[in-house]
Amino acid sequence: MAKKALPASTERVYKILVIGDGLVGKTSFVERYVNNRFIATYKATLGVDFSQKKLQRGDEGVLKLQLWDIMGQEEARTMTRVYYRGAAGCLVMFDLTQRQSFVSVKKWKEDLDSKVRWKDKKLPTLLVGNKSDVVHRCVTKAELEECCKELDFIGWISTSVKDNRNVAEAVSQLVDHVMAMDTGYEEEEESSQGQVLEITSSNKRKSFSDSSKVGSCCFRSPVPSEQNW
Ligand code: GDP
Ligand code: MG
Repeated sequence: MAKKALPASTERVYKILVIGDGLVGKTSFVERYVNNRFIATYKATLGVDFSQKKLQRGDEGVLKLQLWDIMGQEEARTMTRVYYRGAAGCLVMFDLTQRQSFVSVKKWKEDLDSKVRWKDKKLPTLLVGNKSDVVHRCVTKAELEECCKELDFIGWISTSVKDNRNVAEAVSQLVDHVMAMDTGYEEEEESSQGQVLEITSSNKRKSFSDSSKVGSCCFRSPVPSEQNW
């Protein structure tokens, strides 16, 4: 039986993590989402753990999202449990034009899953390929889909923080899943909210982290009809 959604007046605060290799655009993403700014030479504001944004979602009331940016601690590709503690969702970000940042996704996701749970489950986590304004791609759609299946992402999305493309959508899609898990409502009612991301299924299992491709880009630019992802 479907559980009831929380009353609209309930204030919900969700801690959302943004992790991934350095230079993929995490700080820019948070700045764009929270303050709608893009500064090409943006430097992380030291001493601030998270940026907060209030979201009004229909009759579901106001949500407070706390976006946690790892701020320069990317080198280790692993974070402390303390940093992950209390998180309800996560964006694992990579740069569509930098193969190594995609290869690192596996380490980030495995680190996350080994250190934190929410509602006794893995955190809902969205794979975010940033810098879609650059035509060059170092990863194929098929690899993204494979990666989602292998590492248990709720789905993937390509964004351009620079052009403000899919930034709010990425957060919104993640929040849909977080809320479905929190209230147990949307999921069981099969509302469209939890189904925004469709992952094309493929039975072929191959590793997306082919080390022969590490550090370089082995794909030609996509054919024109596919450039809009
Ligand atoms: P972080 O290390 O992951 O926090 O990455 P930053 O947010 O500091 O961004 C690294 C660099 O990538 C900066 O020069 C940004 O201006 C640039 N950048 C971020 N997002 C985009 C994007 O969507 N497109 C392009 N072309 N550059 C971006
Ligand atoms: Mg940063």
